[in-house]
Amino acid sequence: MSEIRSNDPTNAIRQAVERIEDHLIAVRRDIHAHPELGFQEVRTAGVVASELARMGIPYQAGIGKTGVVGLIQGGRPGKVLAIRADMDALPIQETSGLPFASTLPGLMHACGHDIHTTTLLGVAAVLQEMAPQLAGTVKLVFQPAEEGLGGMQAMIDDGVMTGPDIDMALGFHNHPDMPAGTFGYTRGPGLAASDRFDIVLRGKSGHAAYPHTTIDPLIAAAMLVTQLQTVVSREVSPMHPAVVTVGAIQGGTTHNIIPDSCVIKGTVRTLHPRARDIAQAAIERLTAGMLEGMRVQCDIDYRRGTPCLVNDDRILDPAVAAVRAQFGDASVTAREASLGGEDFALMAERVPSFQLKVGSGQPGRSDKLHNSAYQPDEACIGLGAQALSRAAMVLLAG
Ligand SMILES: [Zn+2]
Ligand SMILES: [Zn+2]
Repeated sequence: MSEIRSNDPTNAIRQAVERIEDHLIAVRRDIHAHPELGFQEVRTAGVVASELARMGIPYQAGIGKTGVVGLIQGGRPGKVLAIRADMDALPIQETSGLPFASTLPGLMHACGHDIHTTTLLGVAAVLQEMAPQLAGTVKLVFQPAEEGLGGMQAMIDDGVMTGPDIDMALGFHNHPDMPAGTFGYTRGPGLAASDRFDIVLRGKSGHAAYPHTTIDPLIAAAMLVTQLQTVVSREVSPMHPAVVTVGAIQGGTTHNIIPDSCVIKGTVRTLHPRARDIAQAAIERLTAGMLEGMRVQCDIDYRRGTPCLVNDDRILDPAVAAVRAQFGDASVTAREASLGGEDFALMAERVPSFQLKVGSGQPGRSDKLHNSAYQPDEACIGLGAQALSRAAMVLLAG
C-alpha cells in the first residue's frame, strides 16, 4: 500500500502548481490587460514564447500566423499528445472595472482565452518538471483566432498535426456556470457543426401602390424565413438537436418603394452528420422553391464551417478518471451538449480527442462568456493546470 501511495502524483502535481500559481496569475493579468484579436496575437505569442524559453521547452512560433507550438519530450518513447489552448480576444469594450482590465479600447478577453493561454503555460511547467516519468511527447498548441476566424485550420495548414504526428488531443474551455474546482464532460458530440448561409432574393422594383407591376422580394423573404422554421420542426429528426437561425434580413429603403432585392443571412447548428445534411438540403430546396412560388430569383451561398466536436471515449474516460483521481469523484460531472461551435473540432476530426470543461465561476456572481463584465475565478488557472497535467500523465503512462 505504501508503495502505491508513494507513486501517487496527486501531491506532486498540486505542489508543482502551487509553486507557480502567483506567477501564472500575474501572466494572466498581463495578457488580460493587452488583448489581441485573432491573427494579431503578436504580443501574446511573445509572452508564450518567452515563458516556454524560460522553462527550457523548445518551441516554434509563427505556426498558423501567430500560433506557437512547444514540445515536451518524455523520459521514454510513446504516443504524442496535443494539448490546445486558444489566445484571441473579442471586439468588446470591457466594463469589469478591474485594476488589470483591458488597456485597449474596444478589445477584451471576454471568452477567457487569457485563462486558457495561462493554464496551458501552467501545464507546460508541471509536465516539463515531470517529463522523466512520461512515456511519449506533449505538444503544447497555443492557437490564434478561435473566434470564427479559422485559427485551427491555419495551424493545420502549417503542419501542426505532424512532425511529430499527433496521436490524441486534449482541449478545454472555461465555464462560468460551473464553480472553479469543478469540471465537466460531454460524451460523444459535445459542440455543434456550425454552418452559414447567405440568400439573395431578386424581384422587380416599383411603386408600393402598384404591387401587381412588381415582383416583391420582401414578401418572398418573409415567407422564406417562415418556411425555414419547418427545417428543424418537420425535416430533421426530433432525436437530433438542431437550430436554424436567421440573424439578418436586409432590403428596401423607404415606405413607398418595393425594392429589387433582399438578403437573408443565417446560421445552422447540428450535432449529427445526418441532421447537417438534411438541414442543408432542405434550406437549398426551400430557397429554390421561391422561384416557382413567388417568382423571385434566389441565389444561395451555403458554407460549411467547423464540424461537430465529437469527444472520443478512448481519451474522455482516462482523462475524466485522472481529474477524479486529482480532485475526488464529485469534482467531475456529465454536462449537456451545446449548439455552440469550436474549431478544436478540426483537430478532434483527425485524432481521438476530448474537450474538458473547466469551472471558472466565482461565488456570488453569475457570469456569462462574451459579456463585457466577465470576471472568471482565477483559481481555475491552477486547478485547470492540475487537471490537465494529471490527464496528460495518465494518457502518456505507456
Ligand atoms: Zn468565445
Ligand atoms: Zn472561447
